[in-house]
Amino acid sequence: MIYRSTRSANLEVSGASAIIQGLAPDGGLFVPKVFPEAFSKNELKKLLELSYQDLAGKILGRFLPDYTPEQLATIVKGAYGAQWDDAKIAPVTENKAGSYFLELFHGPTLAFKDIALQCLPRLMKTALFNQADNRDIVILTATSGDTGTAAMRGFQGLDKTRVIVFYPYQGVAPIQLKQMLSESKDNTVAIAIEGNFDQAQTKVKQIFNDQDMRKLLADHDFTFSSANSMNVGRLLPQVVYYFYAYGQLVARGDIAMGDPVNYSVPTGNFGDILAGYYAKKLGLPVGKLICASNKNNVLTDFFKTGHYDKNRDFYVTNSPSMDILVSSNLERLLFDISGDPDLVKGLMDQLKETGEYKLPDDLREKLSDFAADYATPEEIEGEIKRVYDESGYVIDPHTAVASLAAHRFTGNDAKTVVLSTASPYKFPETVYHAVSGQAVTEKGIPALKQLAELTGDLPASIKEFLGASAQEIVIPPSEMEAEVKRQLGL
Ligand SMILES: *Cc1c(COP(=O)(O)O)cnc(C)c1O
Repeated sequence: MIYRSTRSANLEVSGASAIIQGLAPDGGLFVPKVFPEAFSKNELKKLLELSYQDLAGKILGRFLPDYTPEQLATIVKGAYGAQWDDAKIAPVTENKAGSYFLELFHGPTLAFKDIALQCLPRLMKTALFNQADNRDIVILTATSGDTGTAAMRGFQGLDKTRVIVFYPYQGVAPIQLKQMLSESKDNTVAIAIEGNFDQAQTKVKQIFNDQDMRKLLADHDFTFSSANSMNVGRLLPQVVYYFYAYGQLVARGDIAMGDPVNYSVPTGNFGDILAGYYAKKLGLPVGKLICASNKNNVLTDFFKTGHYDKNRDFYVTNSPSMDILVSSNLERLLFDISGDPDLVKGLMDQLKETGEYKLPDDLREKLSDFAADYATPEEIEGEIKRVYDESGYVIDPHTAVASLAAHRFTGNDAKTVVLSTASPYKFPETVYHAVSGQAVTEKGIPALKQLAELTGDLPASIKEFLGASAQEIVIPPSEMEAEVKRQLGL
């Protein structure tokens, strides 16, 4: 199967090559040239009875036929094994306060990015092998918190790979910081920049596309790749759990086979929800995809008006992994609805130059698979409290954004699955305050313990880094390129 860039007509590569490269050299994102055929009703029925691992093998096979089925089976077995604390990998709760919660946080770093980042390194390693490529991969990533930890964890100890993570100084949650610093070892390092996530991401893209830098790396048998959701190898594993959630609802009799189901998705970079859109295109009976944003609500406005406008205040909120004004994966949706690389390039150039663009009217009509809503920090706390009071279930602030959007949604009568993207123990300050009405005594680990006392529960994987401590490296954004060179000894 061939992948192409969203920004030019002639840039085509294999799936393996798209995964190794991460971003297309023209600055675009790789997408399937011809989207895989949807599963038939019969195929779908069989798929929904599979284990998470077998389902993942089948869905990845649909997008990546240049891997053998045996290779994919090995990859998913390794990715979704004993490092998960729930044998289902992605279990769906019973109805809690009106929604079904798809728990995507049972992996080693307690957030949904593990689903993709346990898989991506294995996809990359096999891609290098299949292409007889001897270079070392350098993963350069900007993170608002969860990608960094999950990438470091996914690649840790994997030979021929290096991971350099940039995060906004004082812009990630204390537990996330603790995790990243405790995983800064071997082939992985996390560096703080004096700036916000968008600055980090913009600069990473720049370094990535800098021809001199690329040449310097090539001369030393290195090549850049990306573990951000811009990498198609990170997007594809996320398609799986939309199917798996649906299968669980059918198996329990909560829905009948074929019933539409809404998915409410806490959205930042638009990767997770785009995977849901791909699942729908593959034949899953999806009702609405509810795009749930926090106070950085660029996407809410975009879906309501067709006007993407990032010229607004940037808020550091209590759902930091969604504090984003430029949602990179939206580009893939724009390409999908238009099929027009020139148009996409035009819009992306406008966004870069003026910070905004307007979608032509005929394309706006093609966004009808989506609904959109957002929640302020106060509403987030209110929603955590509502769900806790009504059901005794504790959710994290990101999940609360989607939960509130689902609760308010009136567009149809379908049942709604809320994607639960992080464990509440990753954000104990907000969750404790929301549930108890009291501030925690001390942020970070003490807060986590305080929340655990309140709920009577503490996930095992958290205990691993409780004692860790390390010094932060802080640099201005202008030093990022030099820092990359320094880290690689160039
Ligand atoms: C990354 C992240 C999100 C946003 O996902 P996108 O794919 O960037 O839209 C939501 N919640 C949590 C906890 C995350 O880590």
